Amino acid sequence: MPQEKTSDKIRPRYVFITGGVVSSLGKGLASASLGALLQARGYKVRLRKLDPYLNVDPGTMSPYQHGECYVTDDGAETDLDLGHYERFTGVSAHQSDNITTGRIYSNIIEKERRGDYLGATVQVIPHVTNELKDFIVSDAGDVDFVLCEVGGTVGDIEGLPFFEALRQLGQELGREQVLFMHVTLLPYIAAAGEVKTKPTQHSVKELRSIGIQPDILLCRADREISQSDISKIARFCNVKESAVIQGLDARSIYDVPLAYHKEGMDTEVLRHFRLEPAEADLSRWEDISETLANPDGAVNIAVVGKYTVLPDAYKSLTEALVHGGIANNVKVNIKWIESEAFSKGECGDALKGMHGVLVPGGFGARGSEGKILAAKYAREHAVPYFGICFGMQMAVVEAARNLAGLEGASSTEFGTTDTPVVGLMTEWVQGNQKQTRSKDTDLGGTMRLGSYPAVLAKDSLVAKMYGTQNINERHRHRYEVNVAYKDSLEAAGLKFSGMSPDGVLPEIVEIPDHPWFIGVQYHPELKSRPFEPHPLFAGFVAAALKQSRLV
Ligand code: GLN
Repeated sequence: MPQEKTSDKIRPRYVFITGGVVSSLGKGLASASLGALLQARGYKVRLRKLDPYLNVDPGTMSPYQHGECYVTDDGAETDLDLGHYERFTGVSAHQSDNITTGRIYSNIIEKERRGDYLGATVQVIPHVTNELKDFIVSDAGDVDFVLCEVGGTVGDIEGLPFFEALRQLGQELGREQVLFMHVTLLPYIAAAGEVKTKPTQHSVKELRSIGIQPDILLCRADREISQSDISKIARFCNVKESAVIQGLDARSIYDVPLAYHKEGMDTEVLRHFRLEPAEADLSRWEDISETLANPDGAVNIAVVGKYTVLPDAYKSLTEALVHGGIANNVKVNIKWIESEAFSKGECGDALKGMHGVLVPGGFGARGSEGKILAAKYAREHAVPYFGICFGMQMAVVEAARNLAGLEGASSTEFGTTDTPVVGLMTEWVQGNQKQTRSKDTDLGGTMRLGSYPAVLAKDSLVAKMYGTQNINERHRHRYEVNVAYKDSLEAAGLKFSGMSPDGVLPEIVEIPDHPWFIGVQYHPELKSRPFEPHPLFAGFVAAALKQSRLV
C-alpha cells in the first residue's frame, strides 16, 4: 500500500480537471488516464463530470452535436466521458457522477417553489455554487481520489458558476486536499516553424482571473515540446517545471495512460498531495498496448447506422469493437455506412467484402429501411450479424416480413401499423416496482433505462457466448419487440433466446441456422472494457474472423 506522509484523514482528495484554449483536447481521456494511473499505484478512484450546458441530461441531445449518450447501470443518461472513465478504470459510474446546469437549476427551482429557501433571494452565488459543491463532495463513497472534470473551456459564460464552485472548494478544503489540473493546447505554427505557448499563458491567466491557480498543466501538442518552452510555460504560468506535462497525440487511446505516466503526471499529482508514491503496476496497460500494436490479421465490419459522420456518436460501440479485436488479437476495420444510402435499392455492393454487419442503436424512421436491408443481406448471405437495440428491432421486422410472411410488419415508432412486431410497452417491471409510461410522456427520461436482467435459453448461441443463462445489461429504448409475435417468428426460424425474467419482454433473438446472427434489445457496448471485452463483441469478431477465412 502507498505510504502516506500526510494525515490519513484527508480523504478523498479532489483533482479538478479544467480545459482551456479549445475544446476537444481530450480532457475526458486525460481524467480517465489519471484515474487509471492512480489505480495502478494502489488507490481507489471515482470520476465525475460537470457539464455546464442547460439540458437536464444529455438524453435529449442530438448525437450529432454531443456524441453518444452513455447510460449507467442505475439508468442515468450521461455524458460520453463517463464511458471513458468506466473503460479505463473499470469503476461503474452512477447517476451521481454527472451533473449539468440544467439539473442544478431544476433542483434549485423545485426547492424554491417548495419554499425551502425561506424567503431568501435565490442567486447564482451562493445557491447554484452551493448546489454544485454539495454535488461534488456528496456520495463519494470509500475512495482515495475523486477526479472531477468540468466540460467546456475556461472563459465560457455558462461555466463560470462551476469554476467559482471549484475555487471555493479549493479554499475551503485547502490545497492539501485539492489539486487543479488544466489541459491546454500548444499549437504549432507552420509558417513560423514554432510551437506557441501564448494561448496556454492566456488560458492560465483567465483561470487565475477567477481565482484558480493551476497546479499541473497538461499541454497537448502534436510534437515534442522543447525544454525551453517548458521552462517558459512554467515561468509565465507560475507552476513548477515538473508540473508542465507534455501530452502528445497517441496512436491509440489505450496508450495514453502509459504516455502520461512516462511524462510524470501521476508522480506530480502524488507529490502535490505529499504522498509517497508506491511502484506503479502498469503491466495490464503494457499488455494491451502491445496487443493493439501487433495484431495478427484484420476483419472488416460494416456499421450501418445514421450518425456515421460523427464517430463520437458511436463511441462505446467503436471501443467495444476494438475490445472484440483485442480478444481475438486482430485489428477491426470499421466501414461506416449511412443506412439511408441503400434504403431503396440494394446494399450488396456496400457490404461486399465485409466480414460482419452491425446495425447499432438508433431512433426514427429515417434510414430504417436501409437497416432492414442490411439485416436481410446478412441473413441471406450467412454473414455474421449483430443487431443492437434498434438493430435488433429492425432484424425482427425483417424476419417478420421475409421469413414469417407478415408483409406489413413494422414498428409503431414509425407510425400506426396493422402488424406492430415492435411497439410501445406501457408497463414494465424494474426490481420489484412497476414502471409506467405512455405515448404522451416527456421524451426525456421516459425510456426503459439502465440495467435489467435477462434469462437466456439453454443451448442458445448467446448462452454459449456469455457462459451463463443469467445476465444484466443496460437498456435505453422506448419500444419493445412485441411478444405476441413470438410464436409465429419462432416457427419461421427466429429464436427468442433471451427474455426478461417475467417472460414479457424479448431481450435477444438469434437465428440458429446461421453462422452468427444475434440481435439484442440492450446496449452491450456500454459494458465492454479493454480488459474484459464483452462476450458478444468477442464472439462477433471471432465469427467475422472465421468469415474472413471463407471469403
Ligand atoms: N428507437 C428504438 C426505441 O426507442 C431503439 C432505441 C435504441 O436503439 N437505443 O426503442
